[in-house]
Amino acid sequence: MKTKEELKRMVCEAIDRRRDEIIAFADDVASEPELGFKELKTSAKFVRLLESLGRTPRTGIAQTGVVDAYQGAGSEIRVAVMGEMDAILVADHPDADKLTGAVHACGHNAQLASVAAIAYALHDTGLMQYLDGDIVLMGLPAEEYVEITYRNKLREEGKLWFLSGKQEFIRLGEFDDIDISVMQHSAVAEPGYKAGVTSVCTGFTAKLINYKGKAAHAGAAPFDGVNALNAAMLGLMAVHAQRETFRDEDHIRVHPIITKGGDIVNVVPADVRLETYVRGSNTDAILNASEKVNRAFRAGGDAVGADCEIIELPGYLPAVQCEALNDLMYEELKSLLGENAVQRVCAGFGGGSTDQGDVSHLLPSIQSFFAGVEGGLHANNFCMKDKDLTVLTAAKAMLCLVIELLYDGAAAGRKVKEGFKPVLTKEEYLRQWGRLE
Ligand SMILES: [Zn+2]
Ligand SMILES: [Zn+2]
Repeated sequence: MKTKEELKRMVCEAIDRRRDEIIAFADDVASEPELGFKELKTSAKFVRLLESLGRTPRTGIAQTGVVDAYQGAGSEIRVAVMGEMDAILVADHPDADKLTGAVHACGHNAQLASVAAIAYALHDTGLMQYLDGDIVLMGLPAEEYVEITYRNKLREEGKLWFLSGKQEFIRLGEFDDIDISVMQHSAVAEPGYKAGVTSVCTGFTAKLINYKGKAAHAGAAPFDGVNALNAAMLGLMAVHAQRETFRDEDHIRVHPIITKGGDIVNVVPADVRLETYVRGSNTDAILNASEKVNRAFRAGGDAVGADCEIIELPGYLPAVQCEALNDLMYEELKSLLGENAVQRVCAGFGGGSTDQGDVSHLLPSIQSFFAGVEGGLHANNFCMKDKDLTVLTAAKAMLCLVIELLYDGAAAGRKVKEGFKPVLTKEEYLRQWGRLE
C-alpha cells in the first residue's frame, strides 16, 4: 500500500511525463475555438483523447458535454473534476476565428487540458485502485452566458431549458450522484501570486428586451411611425438613472447591449432588441434591481408609445464557498508552489459570474485560480503565458486534492460532505429559477 504522499508524487511525475501531449492538447483546443453549445470539434477532441486511453466516455450531454467516470476500490465519495469547453467572442483578438470571432480568451482550453492531464495520470498510474471513491471527469459546454437570443431559441425548441452547461447538467441529473465538485480557472493574478484558493463571484438574472414600434417612411412620414430605437434609448437612460439607488455592498452591475437597432435607415425602426444581465452579490438584491431595470425599460416604451416585451431568463447564482474544501486546497497549493505564492482569498470582489455558482449551492465545490495569464480575460490582449502553471500545476493540484479526499476510506471527503449544508436542494434550485419566469 502506498502512502498518500507517494500517490501524490506518483501522479505529479506522471503528469510531467505527459507534458508535451497535454500542452499540445491545450493548443489544439485553442486553435479551433467554439462558442457555447457549439463545441462539437472541442468535445470530439476531448473524446478522442479519452478513447486513446481506452476509455468510453458518454457524450452529447446538454448538446456537447462529455462525462467519463472512474471507479475507485471503494465508492464512498464521488468527486467531479470539471473543465469548460467554450470560447468567448473577441473578434479583434489576434487568435480569433476569422469566421466567428471566437477565441479562448477566458482560458477554458487550459481547464479542459488540465482535466485531460488527469485522464493521462489515471491511465498511466492505476491510481484508482488506491482510492476509496470515484472520480468523474467532465467536459462542460457553455459556461459563458452569451448569444442569449440564439440559446433562447434552442430553449423554445425544447433542446435546452437552462442557457448554460452546468445548469443543464444539474437539470439532467449529472450531479445527482456527485458529492464534491472541483475545477480551476486561469487568472491574471495580483503581483507575486501564482495561484489563489478561491474568489467571490456575483450572480445574475438575464433579460431579452424587445421594443415594438411602427414602421413608416423615415423622411416622408415619420409622424406616422413609432420609433422603437428612441424607446430603447430612453429605456437605457432610465436604467442608468437607477444606478444611484444600488447599494455598494450588493455589487449590482447592469450592462445592456443593443443586438438589433433597426432594419434599414429610411424606415422608422419598428423592431429593436437588447440583451442585459442584472448582476449582484445576493439573490434578493438581484431581484430588487431586476424589478427597477424592468420598470426603466418599460418607461422607454411608454414615452414614445412603443410596446416593450421583456423575457426573463435564468442567469447564475453567486458562488458559495466551502471552507473545508478551500482549506484542503490551500495545503495542496502551498506544497506545490510555496506559501508565499498562494493567495488564500482573492482580494476585492470578483465582478464576474459562473455557473459553478449554481453547482456550489447544491454540493461542496471549489474553483481555484492559477495565474500565468497576461492582458485581460475577455479582452483582445489576453495571452496565456505560462501553460505549465495554468494546465500542469492546476491538474496536479486538483488531482492531489482528490487523493486527499478519497484516500483511507475517503475520510476527508466524507468530512467535507457531512460538514456542508447545501443552500438549495436540486428541487428547490429548479423552483428558484422557475419563479423568475
Ligand atoms: Zn469568461
Ligand atoms: Zn471562464
